[in-house]
Amino acid sequence: MKYYILFGPPGAGKGTQAGAIAEKYNLRHVSTGALLRSEIAAGTALGLEAKALIDAGNLVPDSVVEGMIEHLFDTVRDCSGFLLDGFPRTVAQAEALDRMLSARGESLEGVISIMIPDSVIRERIAGRAAVEGRADDASEATISNRIATYHAQTEPLVDFYRKAGKYFEVQGYPGSIEEVRERVLALVESI
Ligand code: ADP
Repeated sequence: MKYYILFGPPGAGKGTQAGAIAEKYNLRHVSTGALLRSEIAAGTALGLEAKALIDAGNLVPDSVVEGMIEHLFDTVRDCSGFLLDGFPRTVAQAEALDRMLSARGESLEGVISIMIPDSVIRERIAGRAAVEGRADDASEATISNRIATYHAQTEPLVDFYRKAGKYFEVQGYPGSIEEVRERVLALVESI
């Protein structure tokens, strides 16, 4: 199996670009945000715990998302690998992922990073709020906290994966969705 991470700040376009990559390489697209939102919609205990954290722009506990990912690694078979979108989001999650992969005799192909400036994060999330109706896109305070959380907890992963020689970046701005898709697909092809 091949394992890729799709990385970038909130609103970078990970969800938008994931489909094309997953289709081309027969990967299972796994969005931890989407999985958590379906737990919330189904009203599960896990969803209930996650909702308050997500709506405030905070991360859910590492153990929750690590458990979801490990379950998928153990059960999904009908694909050539995984495209992880929104995981890992902390250095602890990245270390847990390393352990899960080595325990399976597998390794990470690479991190596909889509970068945009903070000002564009705000613009994109505000635009998406009107279309998707996500509670965590609707409030300025939540968006600010997500940007701060990204810089404090998630951005250190850039160095983590650079040091491992696994970090590959494209600019998600400026450019149309199609232009960014071309950049991303060319990058994956080069890994
Ligand atoms: P975005 O790409 O806009 O950040 P996501 O759908 O990836 O949105 O995530 C939405 C929210 O779900 C995050 O703000 C966070 O609260 C929670 N979440 C998603 N993935 C993780 C993760 N790996 N660790 C902790 N919390 C997560």
